[in-house]
Amino acid sequence: MKLVYIIFFLCLFFSFLQSASPINLTERIKELKYPVYYINQQPFISLRTLLKVIGAENSWGRIEDRIFFLYQNKRIAMRIGNKSVIVGEKYVDIEYPPIEKEGEVLLHLPSFEKILSEFEENVEEDEEKSLSREDYVILIDPGHGGIDSGAVGNFGLKEKDVNLDISLRLQHYLKKKLKKYPYIKIYLTRDKDVYLSLEDRVEKAKKLNADIFFCIHTNSSKYNRRYATGFETFYPREKEEVKVFYSYENSNRLKENSQKDTVVLQIIKEFDTTTTIDESKILAEIVQEKLSERLITPDRGAKPGNFYVLKYTPMVSILTEIGFICNPNIEMNLRDVEVRQAIAETLGNAIIEYLERKKVIPSYE
Ligand SMILES: [Zn+2]
Repeated sequence: MKLVYIIFFLCLFFSFLQSASPINLTERIKELKYPVYYINQQPFISLRTLLKVIGAENSWGRIEDRIFFLYQNKRIAMRIGNKSVIVGEKYVDIEYPPIEKEGEVLLHLPSFEKILSEFEENVEEDEEKSLSREDYVILIDPGHGGIDSGAVGNFGLKEKDVNLDISLRLQHYLKKKLKKYPYIKIYLTRDKDVYLSLEDRVEKAKKLNADIFFCIHTNSSKYNRRYATGFETFYPREKEEVKVFYSYENSNRLKENSQKDTVVLQIIKEFDTTTTIDESKILAEIVQEKLSERLITPDRGAKPGNFYVLKYTPMVSILTEIGFICNPNIEMNLRDVEVRQAIAETLGNAIIEYLERKKVIPSYE
């Protein structure tokens, strides 16, 4: 079907209809003289116009046919050709789906007017919710343990012991630093020398519903090179949910309407996953930045990694490798209690900075 569209400025009728809502999209568009496009007698506006009117130009993004932006700290997400729009954690049906014409994404004006007006009514309630905080859980995961020593240095220092010692120090440091914020809980996957499988670790993170999963390891190079040096932090290359979404989408692209709920849930999952990976990357970068201020060894960077514990945990997750135990100098340093304490405090400060940025705790800058 060929669509014909004519440019109009909006008539008074719509502004009457919508006069009750705090932001009157239709009226604003008329005032600012933004174009309205009529497709099959239905008024559409461009995505660009919407973002300008609501001041969300800097918060939007697009992944293939999925578009999202932030409005009053809520994420609004949609797909071209799909009649469901995700608003925060809910989804709403709209009359006409977003369409793309000549490189411009067009949105059905009355549908988005309605979304924004209902949105405004909910603001107060949401603010209340954000004041009554739930627990914020940080789960520290000391790598290896028990029969699994991890890497072993030339002089016998075992990775599992270094990881555990630093993790205990980190937990202690964070508890001390964050004691004003009792809603922040700091746990360890193991607090003694026991073996835990990777699945056990992921299970613990899920059971605790952790917000941050923080793995601590000590490197060894492939051939135990004596001169290998530096510290690095990995964030997830992908999360398991992304795969679920893609495989679902591929096999069900045409069945979307009949299985709308599932599709929308998958979209929510996928968006959350994208954010979780982005957030993990931010945390990994802060960790690297803080370590580089404190350690003289080289900064090997924050990078994506395919570790099981990063991939299968649904929350923000990173794995930091604090140094190469196969390097005798580093091994010697890692035996030093003061060095371990300094590393633990540095990791703690990185987590605190992340919490400040995320407004989990107030920032005192
Ligand atoms: Zn390790």
